[in-house]
Amino acid sequence: MPLVTSKQMLLDAQAGGYAVGAFNAENMEMVQAIIAAAEELKAPVMIQTTPSTVKYASLDLYLANVTAIAKKTSVPVCMHLDHGSSFELAMQALRTGYTSIMIDGSHSVFEENIALTKRVVDACAPSDVPVEAELGKVGGKEDDLDGGAGGYTVPEEAKEFVEKTGVGSLAVAIGTAHGVYSGVPKLDLDRLSEIRKLVSIPLVLHGASGLSDEAVQESIKRGICKVNFATELRIAYTDGVKKVLADAPDAFDPKKYGAAGRENVKQLVMNRIRVCQSNGKAK
Ligand SMILES: [Zn+2]
Repeated sequence: MPLVTSKQMLLDAQAGGYAVGAFNAENMEMVQAIIAAAEELKAPVMIQTTPSTVKYASLDLYLANVTAIAKKTSVPVCMHLDHGSSFELAMQALRTGYTSIMIDGSHSVFEENIALTKRVVDACAPSDVPVEAELGKVGGKEDDLDGGAGGYTVPEEAKEFVEKTGVGSLAVAIGTAHGVYSGVPKLDLDRLSEIRKLVSIPLVLHGASGLSDEAVQESIKRGICKVNFATELRIAYTDGVKKVLADAPDAFDPKKYGAAGRENVKQLVMNRIRVCQSNGKAK
């Protein structure tokens, strides 16, 4: 089917008590893997690209891949800009045809984050493209993103932020980090519940690679409607490629190791869709 926006997808998840899995893709094989996994489990799914991924190829190349594959599937697929780093990039994604956009002003002070987010929300409104923002800093490192040590979202600020920006969904910082965890992350779930009490829009969890299934599910119970998975997909893809090349160092056909990476990603995404309990939720 044609691409859909994230709006109804996330509202359905919120009403149904599950989360939509949002998966970062870096190449055609990963796009194929994510959509194949969603199709097999009848799950709505979001595919997203960060600014560094967009720089590697281009917005329209990723969008064309996703659109072409989504067209042949029966599950809703949304194309999302992850961590949009500027108003200009958000507008480029909008014009290109992305159906969901994140503007990440979390590195700015509170008022500047509000102003930037509101500007993007207003610009996307005529096209009905929903906007995700971030308040508080999700720590850790992923590509060029460096959240540093992170700073937790303050519930009262979240309320004010949502009221002033009219944003569609909000990424909250409750102790997760991007990249690979060195220890077991400790989530501040009470903080999440506090935010939920004050904010009615769908909440988003970043940095879920490496979190336990229980931690992800508990956060969903407390209001998370979208869970981002990036780092572990990259690891799964690369592990598949490495294994083929280790077994057959003379292999030279990109299709051979690409297929192995793709299968690894598909299995991982199916697992994560089940953790998010979005399987069988495609409409
Ligand atoms: Zn993130």
